[in-house]
Amino acid sequence: MSKIKALIRKRPKSDPSKAISVNSDNQNTNNASIDAASKGHAVNTPIEQTRWNGWGNININKKVSAHGAKLIKSHIGKTKKLSSVSLQQVLKTVPKSRLPVAMTELDTVSVDNEVRLRHARGQSFPDWIAMHGGDFEVFPDGVAFPASTADVETLLQLASEHDLIVIPFGGGTSVAGHINPQKGSRPVLTIAMSKMDQLIDLDNESQIATFGAGTQGPAVEAQLNEHGYRLGHYPQSWELSTLGGWIAARSSGQQSLGYGRIEQMFAGGTLVTPQGVLNIADIPASAAGPDLREMMMGTEGRAGIFTEVKMRVQSQPEEELFKVAFLPNWAAGKEVLRQAVQKNIQLSMLRLSNAVETDAHLHLGTTPSQFMAISTYLKARGLSSEKAMLTYGVSGDKAQNKLALTQFNKLLKQQGSVTGKITDIMGSVWAHGRFKFPYLRGTLWEKGIMVDTFETATNWNHIDEQMQQMQQAVRTSLADEGEEVMAFTHISHVYKQGASLYTTYFFRAAKDHASTLSRWQKIKHAASLSLANGTATISHQHGVGRDHAPYLAAEKGKLGIQVTHDMLKSLDPEQRMNPGVLIKE
Ligand SMILES: Cc1cc2nc3c(=O)[nH]c(=O)nc-3n(C[C@H](O)[C@H](O)[C@H](O)COP(=O)(O)OP(=O)(O)OC[C@H]3O[C@@H](n4cnc5c(N)ncnc54)[C@H](O)[C@@H]3O)c2cc1C
Repeated sequence: MSKIKALIRKRPKSDPSKAISVNSDNQNTNNASIDAASKGHAVNTPIEQTRWNGWGNININKKVSAHGAKLIKSHIGKTKKLSSVSLQQVLKTVPKSRLPVAMTELDTVSVDNEVRLRHARGQSFPDWIAMHGGDFEVFPDGVAFPASTADVETLLQLASEHDLIVIPFGGGTSVAGHINPQKGSRPVLTIAMSKMDQLIDLDNESQIATFGAGTQGPAVEAQLNEHGYRLGHYPQSWELSTLGGWIAARSSGQQSLGYGRIEQMFAGGTLVTPQGVLNIADIPASAAGPDLREMMMGTEGRAGIFTEVKMRVQSQPEEELFKVAFLPNWAAGKEVLRQAVQKNIQLSMLRLSNAVETDAHLHLGTTPSQFMAISTYLKARGLSSEKAMLTYGVSGDKAQNKLALTQFNKLLKQQGSVTGKITDIMGSVWAHGRFKFPYLRGTLWEKGIMVDTFETATNWNHIDEQMQQMQQAVRTSLADEGEEVMAFTHISHVYKQGASLYTTYFFRAAKDHASTLSRWQKIKHAASLSLANGTATISHQHGVGRDHAPYLAAEKGKLGIQVTHDMLKSLDPEQRMNPGVLIKE
């Protein structure tokens, strides 16, 4: 029998109210979509319920509308599905583990082939090619499932004694090659944090919740919900990604405007490093020299393993609403976003799609009759094909929300927006299906339509130029093969100084996996070069991993890379922790 099932059975039965001592008088009011998604998720999703070669829960699929697929094909041409290998075929390629026998006998360590396979790859495009083509290249030699900080300390001690490479593994949702073992003579131990998924302590007075760092999004919110709290961190990978992964890769959630990025939420905690345990105090603010909390965020598993993390939580909002408006064009929408954030209007999210993305969304997310109804309505209200869709939200007290919406509606009107019952419904539909979009990738894959994304952030005065450069670079990147790439962009995180840009692109699968990967490499390189220009970041939210590491020096400079390298080396002198990630060795 696969060890996966045995490992799952060893998990503690969840009863957070027994595990912690709390004294909360908060009202348990919450958002319907988050509540539904986190229902029954007081513990992590068992790995056997997730796809071994794609995204998410095996029971969830998302259909793509025929007219949506037709629109994409009108750009990229006719497509043909790539073949996919079976799990059994890949299992046959897993080599014998090189872990020392003493380690394979530990209760916490598994050398089962399926367990190793399921921890070998993340969710990047090359990962999908490997998972469908069957060439995984390298598998971890074993996977450890610690249940406590002490377990992690022991594992790092043993890793040092046996000279192992160690890869911390959260939800495995990395899209930048963060958790993939590399070829080398040292055996690889992946340390999966999935058993550390419980709320350990809740300080009601300071509103600090201490969690096991392996807790996934729904389990975080379900356990906080019981006490009337919420973290409010909702990356689109929320279903499977974890607190430790968010902190280690500096994640940003859809409602970052209202709830902040992960760096505003992470208060401190325990990091087990090869040099010992680093306790990061959860002090609200400090002038006592460089901030260790900041220094350890974004270390992508290279400094050590976060085991227990202290998070700043908030009361559940009294009311949460999501709405949609249409602006005549991108410039008008961008002006609304900039003014809203610079005037401190208390919204929880803002997202603006450019004209191509707006059109694609209207096609992909509707039936033909819904598409016709919405298009006719927007046309009758004077909007052209230049229109830009703006999704926004409020989350808080009813009075505070009312004020924010009044202020925001004024801005919308000034820029000629179209809103109404139909756009309000679109907002609710977006909220309801917000974590289902990633499932489209698998559906499109089956049709031979390859899709990937990349993202950045820049100042307001560079936004338009950067967007044009990124899209142009991507669209023309396969010109030598006579292939067209479809690309569109949205802004989804806004700051007083600037905003993030997130580009989605589609291209055709080539004749086989290797040549499809080569197409992706060309696109990725063109996109990354368009970012390494001194005014934008190589990543606003996905992190660096291996895929972005070659471009990091353009942003940090030689000295910046040296400082980061030296800091990591001081905690990990043997370069045992996830080498090659973040900084190219
Ligand atoms: C469909 C999809 C949508 C996404 N949407 C978003 C989004 O909206 N916003 C966003 O920010 N990101 C998004 N991502 C990217 C990804 O979810 C984030 O990078 C996330 O932070 C990774 O978390 P994880 O728990 O899956 O970490 P993993 O992928 O397992 O690991 C990521 C990195 O963190 C390290 N790590 C993990 N846990 C620990 C730990 N306990 N201690 C030390 N290091 C650790 C790993 O070694 C690795 O370097 C998306 C990914 C997918 C597949």
